Amino acid sequence: MNRRLVLKFGGTSVADADAIGRLIRIVRTEVDGGGQPVVVVSAMSGVTDRLFAMAAAAVRGERADVMQQLDDLRTRHEDAARALMPESGRHAVIEALAAHIDELRAVLTAVAILQEASPRSLDGLAAAGELMSSRIVAAAFAEAGVPSVWIDPRRVVITNASHTCAAPSLDAIRIAAAQHIAPHLEAGRAAVIGGYVGATEDGITTTLGRGGSDYSAALIGAALDCREIQIWTDVDGMLTADPRVVADPRVVPALSFGEASELAYFGAKVLHPSTILPAVEQDIPVRILNSRRPESPGTRITANAPAARTLAALACKRRITVIEVTSTRMLMAHGFLRKLFEVFERHQTSVDVVTTSEVSVSVTVDDDRHLAPIVEALREFADVSVERDMALLCAVGDGLRSDPALSVRLLASLEGFPLRMVSQAASRRNLTVVLNERDLPRAMTRLHDQWFVAPAGGPRDPMSVSA
Ligand code: ADP
Ligand code: ASP
Ligand code: MG
Repeated sequence: MNRRLVLKFGGTSVADADAIGRLIRIVRTEVDGGGQPVVVVSAMSGVTDRLFAMAAAAVRGERADVMQQLDDLRTRHEDAARALMPESGRHAVIEALAAHIDELRAVLTAVAILQEASPRSLDGLAAAGELMSSRIVAAAFAEAGVPSVWIDPRRVVITNASHTCAAPSLDAIRIAAAQHIAPHLEAGRAAVIGGYVGATEDGITTTLGRGGSDYSAALIGAALDCREIQIWTDVDGMLTADPRVVADPRVVPALSFGEASELAYFGAKVLHPSTILPAVEQDIPVRILNSRRPESPGTRITANAPAARTLAALACKRRITVIEVTSTRMLMAHGFLRKLFEVFERHQTSVDVVTTSEVSVSVTVDDDRHLAPIVEALREFADVSVERDMALLCAVGDGLRSDPALSVRLLASLEGFPLRMVSQAASRRNLTVVLNERDLPRAMTRLHDQWFVAPAGGPRDPMSVSA
């Protein structure tokens, strides 16, 4: 029987000593049941944001402020360690934390002198969040009598050198995990490892991009052929709509891999979009669970969705920019689209939605950092207009593939909202519309009410969603 599993705890699930106490109870239950857990942890909530803010302040030369923030960071981590361990047991972890803080101080001082932070230095800084939280969690396990070992993610999660969004090498991770993690699991020790962080073959620290701890969990789960990957977070599972937009979303009990990856890609932040791929490749189920309510069943993500349901959930992305490119000179000339997409490729900006008409192409991007040079390059061969403050609203469900009428009815539900773009993705399991961001809350709530909340006359669609 395969006893290995990954349990990943997000920032709010390691936010303080109380949260880490809950984490220990959850992992202990697995150990008592015969499981061999790998525990992947995020930085304590807000810490990664704080580290990036400190780097930005250092670039501006605000040294006193940076050192004050560093002190606060040290205090927060030490307080958690103190609350979890008696004085006798916490010596080693306090020293390990001090070493991380010293290193942060040295790097931040260098950044403040140079007033410049390269992506490589940013990775070195950001990695400290997960390195510190995982040290505390590993020490807390020892204190609680759960045999465990701290693993340095830089020895396991091997990536390329694309700093701040490095691409992992699953083959290298497989070899490293077999060497550095598996023997501990066999010996009955829970492995504790920081997510998000990796290193190049040469040992230079990298990160997998924001929200990347989910991805770490999936990579490690795949590398060790685990039986399940559990994502422990602060909501009851994948919800039928973004809880920051819709007041009363429901839990989706089961999703297919395809549905989950579309939802993640189109804004359901509960799961990093890259998480699903390593799981799909080895057919490892992923579960999303609430660390404050471990008894609730959560969402189970497997190869197939339940047969008797149409839509799985809605997702949205705010702060979308629509770029409309109208070709005059090259009207319908072949090679136009290639030229257009080359511009986006050159500026490392990915496009989410594309629609075309005879003379124009509209695309959306959520990353507008390189917008100015993109527009300049496009203007060399086309007229370009840019609309900001747009939003993307997306309905996802494997049922959209089998019932073409569903898309029409979904659009009918949005009657009255000016839709800037409409797209049915090639996967045919999502219908996406682009609209003004100010319309998003009302549009998403209306869709949710009509499709997921049973009206007085009964639901319009057979859905297996539970409250
Ligand atoms: P963690 O720190 O545990 O990784 P995240 O903040 O990355 O947690 O993701 C969890 C958050 O995702 C939730 O608190 C919720 O606000 C947000 N979210 C957005 N869309 C959804 C959705 N469809 N279902 C569940 N959560 C969602
Ligand atoms: N701590 C990192 C972030 O905030 C990674 C993660 O939590 O998934 O982006
Ligand atoms: Mg997350």
